[in-house]
Amino acid sequence: MDEIDVPESHPRYESLLTRHRIEHGVDLGITSRQGLIAQGRGEAYDYLLGERTTESADRAERAAAAHLLRADHPVLSVNGNAAALVPGELVELAAATGADLEVNLFNRTAERMERIADHLREHGAEEVKGLDADGRIPGLDHERAKVDADGIGDADVVLVPLEDGDRAEALAAMGKTELVIDLNPLSRSAQTATVPIVDNIIRAVPGITEHARALTDASREELERITEEFDREAALSAAEDAIRSGDL
Ligand code: ATP
Repeated sequence: MDEIDVPESHPRYESLLTRHRIEHGVDLGITSRQGLIAQGRGEAYDYLLGERTTESADRAERAAAAHLLRADHPVLSVNGNAAALVPGELVELAAATGADLEVNLFNRTAERMERIADHLREHGAEEVKGLDADGRIPGLDHERAKVDADGIGDADVVLVPLEDGDRAEALAAMGKTELVIDLNPLSRSAQTATVPIVDNIIRAVPGITEHARALTDASREELERITEEFDREAALSAAEDAIRSGDL
């Protein structure tokens, strides 16, 4: 039940579709009520950014694709909002980059973990990590520290959409390369990221996949050049400028 009764030509179609998917995610027991609040915050920033992928965000998506392709063990972290908004798109990105999918929740309950894993499987995922929870992120309290030892615990590159600031900082402190999707360029997650992607997850994930497919045959040197040339400070400033310019 992903569709809504609004014509695609409606000027706020994407935003209404997003809202609808999140609401449906809550009904399915995938998204938490806090997830609704996070969505509201994201929507406000998306509005200020003109509800589009800026050139700078597109460059970040390309750099993220290059990092995922270069990685020894890339993992895509999936929370309740990401699962409700882009389940099939995350499965496609995992396939395009050879990444694992791992469910990772701020408000972790066994039931919600299972539901999200099932939801991803219904959208084509073969293996979903996160349920073993036999690894820990140092510096976080018990429930929020849990990860799979052979998933995020072992990953060198992690894509974390809509991550809370504490965990983003803790993952960075473990030396992982963090690719963060967050519409707020001032959030701690975006500020901590190796690659901050200031774009709506519903555009960013397909955007990274498109770049990954275009770069499939790129040499290691080419991928390294793309990741090294990426300027995180410039990406954060460009997002702030886009918001301030009010050029909607
Ligand atoms: P932090 O702890 O990182 O400083 P926070 O407390 O605002 O920030 P949360 O509420 O846990 O973090 O996470 C929500 C974040 O996700 C917000 O920054 C919000 O802008 C962003 N967000 C919400 N919906 C989307 C979306 N669809 N696409 C991208 N980002 C989104």
